[in-house]
Amino acid sequence: MMNNEQLIDLVGQMTLTEKTAQLLQLTSNFYEGTDTQGQITGPMEEMGITQPSVEASGSILGLSGAQAIIDVQQAYMEKSRLGIPLLFMADVVHGFKTIFPIPLAIGCSWDTQLAEKSAEIAARESAVSGLHVTFAPMVDLVRDPRWGRVMETTGEDPYLNSLFAAAFVRGYQGDNLQEETDRLAACVKHFAAYGAAEGGRDYNTVDMSERNLREYYLPAYKAALDAGVEMVMASFNTVDGIPASGNEKLMRDILREEWGFEGVLISDWASIREMIAHGAAEDDREAAYRAIRAGVDIEMMTPCYVHHLPALIASGELSEKLIDEAVLRILQLKEKLGLFDNPFRAANPEREREIVFSKEHRQVSYELATKSAVLLKNANDILPLNPQAHIALIGPFAESEDILGWWSCEGVKADAVKLGTALQERLGTDHVHLAQGSGVHTITSEQIAEALEVASKADLIVLALGEDSEMSGEGGSRTDIRLPAAQLELIKHLRSTGKPLATVIFNGRPLDLHGVWEESDAVLEAWFPGSEGGAAIADVLTGVVNPSARLTMSFPQSVGQVPVYYNHFNTGRPLNPQKTEERYVSKYIDSPNDPLLPFGYGLSYTTFEYGSLDISGQELSSELPLTIKVKVTNTGERTGVETVQLYVRDVTGEVVRPMRELKDYVKLELAPGETGTATFTLCEAQLRYHHSDLSYRSDKGTFHVYVGPNSRDTQESNFKLV
Ligand code: BGC
Repeated sequence: MMNNEQLIDLVGQMTLTEKTAQLLQLTSNFYEGTDTQGQITGPMEEMGITQPSVEASGSILGLSGAQAIIDVQQAYMEKSRLGIPLLFMADVVHGFKTIFPIPLAIGCSWDTQLAEKSAEIAARESAVSGLHVTFAPMVDLVRDPRWGRVMETTGEDPYLNSLFAAAFVRGYQGDNLQEETDRLAACVKHFAAYGAAEGGRDYNTVDMSERNLREYYLPAYKAALDAGVEMVMASFNTVDGIPASGNEKLMRDILREEWGFEGVLISDWASIREMIAHGAAEDDREAAYRAIRAGVDIEMMTPCYVHHLPALIASGELSEKLIDEAVLRILQLKEKLGLFDNPFRAANPEREREIVFSKEHRQVSYELATKSAVLLKNANDILPLNPQAHIALIGPFAESEDILGWWSCEGVKADAVKLGTALQERLGTDHVHLAQGSGVHTITSEQIAEALEVASKADLIVLALGEDSEMSGEGGSRTDIRLPAAQLELIKHLRSTGKPLATVIFNGRPLDLHGVWEESDAVLEAWFPGSEGGAAIADVLTGVVNPSARLTMSFPQSVGQVPVYYNHFNTGRPLNPQKTEERYVSKYIDSPNDPLLPFGYGLSYTTFEYGSLDISGQELSSELPLTIKVKVTNTGERTGVETVQLYVRDVTGEVVRPMRELKDYVKLELAPGETGTATFTLCEAQLRYHHSDLSYRSDKGTFHVYVGPNSRDTQESNFKLV
């Protein structure tokens, strides 16, 4: 163990080359680009890295596997003059080998405990496989489903995102990284506001008022910090005209000064050099200058720092103190992870074989998938499936293993439980008949004929449709967020049979459901449900599990409405609905304003009835919170979970306040006929917001409070903040 004095002393012993190497992160294939004499070849040479490999960097990206990491670390340590170990980092975003549902799906569970558990398992699997840091959680607030990376976040609400951000950090890191060696340091990303890219086009400009930034986009990063996150990753986008990777205001002023973040800040992949393409740096030298001054400690995948920091110091443009501070932070993290004492930490090939993808881990993935699937529509209660019925399971996802989503490491797809297999296991091969129906993007007349043939023998059709995993995730932006035409054509053909039709969708974003919604009796949003996805969705379809998930991102009527989100402002129109001429209200002439499915929405196989709101008073003050209660009764025939949601509107503010803001929620599990009470305490602190001078405080006056099963279907009461 080393104390801080010793670490400072160690920095003092390092040459400038050794120091700048700590500030570089490379992928392992860059390491393989060195021959035995340490001559640089291959990708490293192409990148212009001219130093011998062992000194080239202080951390490695994307390598995993206990033995592989032990080998690289060993070779590195043998050559390291001062015995400074490497850090191994990777994108463990929703599971390592046991893949959990995508984060957007996890968000829909509204179950932060299970989310935390999933991160803990991901950490345990990764840690025995040699990793030290995960580039997660991704907590970017999103409002635009065209952006492919909405799948990596928990949705559009700052409060819920903050709860999940903290839960994920706790799950990855545990209570004490030094003692619990089978945990990972977490790296919250992408700082900041990466999710607000214009037009939903990945990497695109982000520009918004600072008030908006602080009110909606920053809280989840801050929540991760408050939960003790060890690292932060800067984002690709500009914020107010300055690329995040060189943005002093974001990183020095807000992150470090105001929030007191003392951990390691890393760039995103090549994002320092990208400042040149943005038009914010003339060359690598200027990019390095701007990024280090803004506070980025580690440069990922480009060599601006290693090549130019020494000259910038020599010329007096930069103080070496800046570099020393960055190096110290990295060494502190290495020490926190115990790497100076044991550079291999938890890496252990035997343990790796034992625990990775274990039955217990897959069970948690299964449970989370059952809690993440959102029942969107269920006309005539055609779901759950009648076990006696003959079912035609048709579609490109009927028997697909492509149900893991974007961030899942290679080789794990083959282990995913497929829907068709799982449904046949449960209901029998003589009751479940499969047909592919179409590809994701293509359809042939043979496929249609086969689908119709299989459908003709069935009592009910289950269509398994969706996006393949390449259609969302990084670089997966779309302007048309309907299902591909081939799949819409398939639905039409099957609809013409007149048989009841339930559609299950596997995908990574809210979709424009035109062509699905009106053609299906039931719609189940499965998302990318992870390793046990087929089993989980089969159990939801057959009613072994009663669906309970709630959307955390609105589903638009059509892409033209985007962005459409629940916590929007009102407009001035109409001031008076009776008197305002129809033409001049704030609306589209070809679409309703409301989304198809609002935030918080989701159905169950049972029904719940709400009693009236019981509010403890008409006035709330900083000394006197209000208690709000509502009784909920399960009026159906199955046990179910209801997520009772509490929203507030500050009717008049110094700054306009959203129509609704989620403040709290309670989950009630109720047996048939059972009544439960959701009890909320609302206090003054929950009513604060950022004013025009950026002060964070509440405004006295009238508030509406809403309680209900989603952000739309609520009952209302009022109170005054005094
Ligand atoms: C992504 C990050 C990721 C990094 C390393 C980038 O392209 O934006 O989210 O952590 O690559 O893989």
